Amino acid sequence: MKQIEVKKIVKAINASDGAGVKLKRSIGTPEADYIDPFLMLDEFGSDNKDDYVAGFPPHPHRGIETVTYMLNGQFEHEDSTGSKGKMEPGDVQWMKTGRGIIHSEMPAMTGGKLLGFQLWINMPAKLKKNKPEYLYIKSAELGVHKDSEKTIKIIAGKFEKTEGPQSNHNVEPIYFHIDLNEGKEFKFEVPGGHNSFIYILKGELKIGEKEHDKTTNSDLILLERGNKVCVKANKKTEFLFISGKPIGEPIARGGPFVMNTKAEILEAIQDYNNGTFAKY
Ligand code: FE
Repeated sequence: MKQIEVKKIVKAINASDGAGVKLKRSIGTPEADYIDPFLMLDEFGSDNKDDYVAGFPPHPHRGIETVTYMLNGQFEHEDSTGSKGKMEPGDVQWMKTGRGIIHSEMPAMTGGKLLGFQLWINMPAKLKKNKPEYLYIKSAELGVHKDSEKTIKIIAGKFEKTEGPQSNHNVEPIYFHIDLNEGKEFKFEVPGGHNSFIYILKGELKIGEKEHDKTTNSDLILLERGNKVCVKANKKTEFLFISGKPIGEPIARGGPFVMNTKAEILEAIQDYNNGTFAKY
């Protein structure tokens, strides 16, 4: 049993995407480019509507999965498969883009607080050619573990007897949203080959046994591989714990497309320009 320690602490950097939505990016940055299988992590949102009203107008994706988790506010989405829906606080949209999708993600609100996360997971070469697929999870369908020390909302994976709705997935993902009371611990066994990280929304944690700098809001904490993670809340803390099995293939990035080679990126751009993209 190897106790998991902190590998690196990365401060999320301010960025903007879509039509100018302000966000904090932690994975997909020079300091944490690709944490196989995770390609990108964005915390989007603001109390100021000017930072988000322009949303993400229609844009393509190929070769990845996007997992959107809304915590505050509403988003409306629409895509080239004809799928349409409104995300409410606590809802999750897990989209496997496969060979191609064109979608829009627009705020369905004109004011107030927006907060959410978008995680990109890579797809292995053999699944990048599949048809797009959705898993739409209403907040009431998440697994919830609750005891006197913590609450864990489970999107994927299993904590004690509680399981999340995403299962039978090739990277065996674990996606927990944890509220941990001051002075309490979160202990969890992780498959030895997985890459894992913690993202702090609010609070401060001590992770593992070794000394490390104090971690605070919007810190991405990359973890070493191992079997057992132990986290203690220095004060009441809200954080994400995310883990997955590496795919181990070369990647080529081209904005919203992530493939194995540069040639496949050029092909995606050509398909998009020729209007043959996302024709099923
Ligand atoms: Fe998108």
